[in-house]
Amino acid sequence: MSDRLKTTQNKLHQVSSCFCVAKWSHATIHLHSGMGHSCHHPMLHAIPSENLLQYPHLLHNTEIKMQARKEMLAGQRPEECVHCWTYEDANTENFSDRVIKSSSPWAAGELEKISQDPLNQKFMPRYLEVSFSRLCNLKCVYCGPHFSSAWAQEQALHTGNENEFAEEKENIYTQSFWKWWPELKPNLRVLRLTGGEPLLHSAVHSLLEDILDGDPVPFQLLMNSNLSVPEKYSTKTLDVLQRIYHQKKAPKIKIISSMESVGASARYIRHGIQEGLFWKNILNIRKLDFCDLSITATLNTLAIGNLREFYYAVAEIKKQTEGAVHQFFIDPTLLKSPSHLNILKFPDREKKIFIHECDEILKDTEKYKLSKYEILRLQIVQKVVLSKLGQSVREDTERLYDYLTELDLRRNLDFRRDFNALTDLWKEVESWKESLNVASP
Ligand code: SF4
Repeated sequence: MSDRLKTTQNKLHQVSSCFCVAKWSHATIHLHSGMGHSCHHPMLHAIPSENLLQYPHLLHNTEIKMQARKEMLAGQRPEECVHCWTYEDANTENFSDRVIKSSSPWAAGELEKISQDPLNQKFMPRYLEVSFSRLCNLKCVYCGPHFSSAWAQEQALHTGNENEFAEEKENIYTQSFWKWWPELKPNLRVLRLTGGEPLLHSAVHSLLEDILDGDPVPFQLLMNSNLSVPEKYSTKTLDVLQRIYHQKKAPKIKIISSMESVGASARYIRHGIQEGLFWKNILNIRKLDFCDLSITATLNTLAIGNLREFYYAVAEIKKQTEGAVHQFFIDPTLLKSPSHLNILKFPDREKKIFIHECDEILKDTEKYKLSKYEILRLQIVQKVVLSKLGQSVREDTERLYDYLTELDLRRNLDFRRDFNALTDLWKEVESWKESLNVASP
């Protein structure tokens, strides 16, 4: 694997030291809000709606992306890609997502194609991640009203602003997407459906039916899900995915879920999750004969104390489903935003808890049943955190404390109880606050 990444790294370097195929060939588009980015790392930007219905490829080729592409071609690092520069600067041996994404199967041949006409504004994405709605039943701690209707509802309740919970109707972005869809279909290599919670979205089901009823598509179908929705939605979705696969309408199906902890801390981080249902769904999907499955571990400040237990829970499922032909793995990624949940902004004492958890997992790869890919990914995030020892941001730690205090009030929770691995941190913030009170007149 690292040979392949090294080869890609060299090929990218021949164009420029910061060239990335994803800037051209990868798109994440949130149709409900009219926002998008190239991959999920750069900040979202608004997609201008002018001329969109006439030229739906402008959903992808926005001025902001065109500017970043120009910078990459000129050997300059677009600021919005700071996630990758952080990984690359942490250790020259680290492969950032720039290299990992550029060497993915969907990116094959793209570099050559881009080189022929790099500033063509009609560039087609090969990997498209799209959401139709923010309808979601969870209120994850690092999510918010823009991506979760449950969050928006809570926000509306607490601010009294009903507009925060205006349900989406079809808009110019969704209309442009459907216009673009016949052209996209034969060109995509990966289509990833996201949300909100996509299993709840009627547009997602319309799209799946369209694939099932049409000619075979050339792309892999990836479906994000929190796997904690009422059974009728998961049954309906799995049924149509199964028919798509068995009728050879799509070459590959994968379900991508998210989790990074267990027990009370998992339930706090992913507020509203039915943990038992989540693990039951993971086990059941693992037994199916038509789809790969991965769990994105969004590594955030609150998840650091339970990492081993989480990896062990996944290992148990792997043991119970040994011999299954389809892939199943954990994909760890460091959360960047909001910054108060970013491990890199944490004091060293807490960073070291995380580094230790990683060490313990990596020491016993047999017990945790890790694949080479999982080992490499965990080593990379550990190295990045190691490289940031000595750098912490007190304001972010204080903001985290205040944020959790507010969530506790709103949701009747107790973060001190649920994150006791961070007890020293809570005490430290409390003493900062106390000293401030003493100092004020
Ligand atoms: S954040 Fe990284 S992977 Fe994403 S577009 Fe930028 S360089 Fe490419």
